[in-house]
Amino acid sequence: LRIECIAIGTELLTTTRVDTNSVWLAQRLADLGLAFHRKTAVGDSREDLRHLFLEALHRSEFIVCTGGLGPTFDDFTKEVLAEILGAPLEEDPTVRREIETFFKTLNRPMPLNNLKQALVPAGAMVLHNPVGTAPGLYWENPEDYPGRRIALLPGVPREMKHLWEYQVEPRLRELAGRPIHTLRMLVGSVGESALEERTTPLRQKHGRLDWTILASLGLVELIARSPEPAELDAARRDLEAELGADLIGVGSASLEETLLAKLAARGETLALAESMTGGLIASRLSAIPGASRAFLGGAVVYSPGAKTTLSDVDPALLHSAGTVSEACTRALAEGIRTKLGSTWALAVTGNAGPGEDPAGSAPVGTCHLAVSGPTGTRTQSHHFPGERAAVQARTASWALDFLRRTMLG
Ligand code: ATP
Repeated sequence: LRIECIAIGTELLTTTRVDTNSVWLAQRLADLGLAFHRKTAVGDSREDLRHLFLEALHRSEFIVCTGGLGPTFDDFTKEVLAEILGAPLEEDPTVRREIETFFKTLNRPMPLNNLKQALVPAGAMVLHNPVGTAPGLYWENPEDYPGRRIALLPGVPREMKHLWEYQVEPRLRELAGRPIHTLRMLVGSVGESALEERTTPLRQKHGRLDWTILASLGLVELIARSPEPAELDAARRDLEAELGADLIGVGSASLEETLLAKLAARGETLALAESMTGGLIASRLSAIPGASRAFLGGAVVYSPGAKTTLSDVDPALLHSAGTVSEACTRALAEGIRTKLGSTWALAVTGNAGPGEDPAGSAPVGTCHLAVSGPTGTRTQSHHFPGERAAVQARTASWALDFLRRTMLG
């Protein structure tokens, strides 16, 4: 099925607005095992839009457009398409009533130009919009373009999502035929290329599946799609055996969710002492609802003074080993664990750049991790490439994964 996306609006061609609608739609399609074969952003120009519609009707079977359904002079998506399809515009009494009710509910007078939104091209199906005023429109097999389907959706993301979810996606599902199932495996502390190489034989063995590898700052997702659940299951079993402790989990759960669930299930708790990541790990954990069942809290121990005061690190140790060091990180983890009385503690020091460490002991990209727990303290040191935010994000992921692995024993 050739599916095309057209995002309409001059603001999408400037720095004013990013076209997030097509990205959201692409994700929804991916969940159905489908994908756009083309997407375009076009400004509010009747001529440009007319050309684009003609091309799209020629090359795509399913066209989804967002934007330009509003009441103002620069909204003409529906008029341009109606002209191409030779469909006269007629007022739809139901849509008119819906728009009038919408304004009554808001207790605001209805501007007359809003009635433009009640005009419906002959032959189009109205996609009623309970969250705004612009209804969407849907055509199936228009007379001169058999086999084509076109959905016009409002540009406002909230309205677009609502109409897509409840009115367009069900129609697309029917067209797409057999549902596509997805197997997602999340892998930690392994590089993307290393994972690709290591899984090549198994991906070849299960070559009928549609494979993707996606890396994002310290974590890698291995995704397979197929209409056959049994084939996905066989691949899952093989990969679980191959990946062992590197596998964080199967399914949609994130590293943070997996870790917090494991801690909560064991009745254990976690404290943090973060220097280089500046609270990023705490932020990622606290973004998960229910994190408080296992996450006690922690300290951002950015300065030497904070390391001493908040995590009880001996100033003499800071002096002899340096603040960015394995010894300091170990002391931070042990100190915060004792202070908060947690089962586990995780500590991070490092140099995220861009400048060299003033003490000269840690090149840009260095990080030290320490996990302290019931059986003692373990440390790891790494060197990550990239700019500051990337080094911090990668360090946060590896730190959380180090704790997960340590908990496995
Ligand atoms: P309305 O009835 O509200 O006017 P509309 O269909 O005319 O809806 P637009 O006027 O094109 O839509 O856009 C409405 C709002 O939605 C604007 O703030 C616009 O920036 C935003 N928007 C439009 N298209 C997109 C897109 N592709 N991604 C993200 N935001 C978008």
